[in-house]
Amino acid sequence: MYINNKWIDTKDTLEILNPATGEVVDSVGLVGAEETQQAIDAAKAAFPVWSGLTAEDRSTYLLKIVDKLEEKKEHLAQVITKEMGKSIHNARYEVGSTISFYKWYAEEARRIYGDVMPIVGANKRGHVIKQPVGVVAAITPWNFPLSMGARKLAPALAVGCTVVLKPSSEAPLSSLELFKIFDEVGLPEGVVNLVIGSSGPIAKTMMDSKDVKKISFTGSTEVGKKLIRQSADTVKRVSMELGGHAPYIVFEDADLDLAVKGVIGSKFASSGQQCVCTNRVYIQDAIYEEFAEKLQAAVESMKVGNGLDESNQMGSLINDKAIASVHDQVTDALGKGAKLLCGGDRLSGEGYENGSFYAPTILSNVTEDMKITHEETFGPVAPLIRFTTEEEAIEKANNTEYGLASYFYTKDLGRMYRVSEKLEYGMVGVNDPAPFAIQAPFGGVKESGLGRESGKYGVEDYLDTKSISVMF
Ligand code: NAP
Repeated sequence: MYINNKWIDTKDTLEILNPATGEVVDSVGLVGAEETQQAIDAAKAAFPVWSGLTAEDRSTYLLKIVDKLEEKKEHLAQVITKEMGKSIHNARYEVGSTISFYKWYAEEARRIYGDVMPIVGANKRGHVIKQPVGVVAAITPWNFPLSMGARKLAPALAVGCTVVLKPSSEAPLSSLELFKIFDEVGLPEGVVNLVIGSSGPIAKTMMDSKDVKKISFTGSTEVGKKLIRQSADTVKRVSMELGGHAPYIVFEDADLDLAVKGVIGSKFASSGQQCVCTNRVYIQDAIYEEFAEKLQAAVESMKVGNGLDESNQMGSLINDKAIASVHDQVTDALGKGAKLLCGGDRLSGEGYENGSFYAPTILSNVTEDMKITHEETFGPVAPLIRFTTEEEAIEKANNTEYGLASYFYTKDLGRMYRVSEKLEYGMVGVNDPAPFAIQAPFGGVKESGLGRESGKYGVEDYLDTKSISVMF
């Protein structure tokens, strides 16, 4: 726990296990409501100091954080892989994206502009200024244990907010490493605070506090809805980055090799445990068999194992509970008539003895009555679904309460515009399995969330807009 720039030992501790080996990686202290309140008090006391600095000074602090992240980037990637099992390649990508967030918002700190209104009267002038909202509570998930925090902390700190972060207790070690960096950089007391422990009491303390002006959450839709309800009593600002169920549509005019490569990236990165991972693959009739064959060949050649081994493309799942949930969807689909093209079970035997590994899996002949077409799949399973017309593909793709990422492959320019505009999703990748960039807004519609992170859009949620009218 890190509160008011002090590391504090706690009575209760939790061992963090490497899901690829079952070995203990480290242990962390656990806190509850009382310590969370102390963290909020520290952040409240720090707010006038931090928000009172010049944008230039805050930017300089953020750039120092960038330098330290650069120095430690390989170490951070190793910590991520050990605490949650993704491949070292995916972990390095995550650290790179974390660095880009701190760098971008170090620059953005200097661009928090307001407006001057046209003259509203001979002796009256109007101005609009942007001000930091105050203390921010941030709650993050285990699947991107470092970068999901960066999307919140970097813009919040850039504009002058102070923060209490609660990372997931499944994978809190990279956050501890980050706070070591904050400590080395010497941020003013109380600007950043870290609490790890049981989510119930920590979140309740955050949500009940009138001093916490904003909650920024990334995680499941179920928990997000709960936090939205809890935010009502103190009318907090909310940012919600929630679950997804991304469709991936392959039209008959697509470059099939490109589309196959795209599914591998979009479905199997982080073992399928990403909010933006492909969850349903729709393939047009004429190319269904050919696409399925090519995909099967590519998936069967994937190397799976301990994420620290450079030769492995895919690592483990987070734990055995995740394996059970993925396997339940596969069993349900097979019971309702899906056909197994490859995978379909947990991996066992040499190299997999104590780890939570699931084989990369493809199911064909998937239909809408199967759980996998509606429930978020957090694992390496690609369900293939046949379609005939463009309208049918769009209708099926939109048939979900989620609206985060979506993808489609075509060479037809008109279709690129038509389908992009009709997909009810916050993000669309056209022939692009990773339509995410530091410059671009990231976020969902429908039950996938509220607000946007990243780029110039990412600061808005941490700013209040004030109107000032002056008469003279
Ligand atoms: P989760 O179970 O909702 O947990 C997310 C965070 O909320 C963790 O820190 C967790 O703490 C905490 N939490 C759990 N129950 C809570 C409660 N009742 N009140 C307050 N906080 C609570 O999600 P997850 O399993 O970690 O992450 C996977 C989910 O996140 C997926 O649905 C995925 O799609 C979504 N996600 C979305 C995005 C996005 O940008 N849209 C990005 C990544 C992930 P503990 O772990 O300590 O219990």
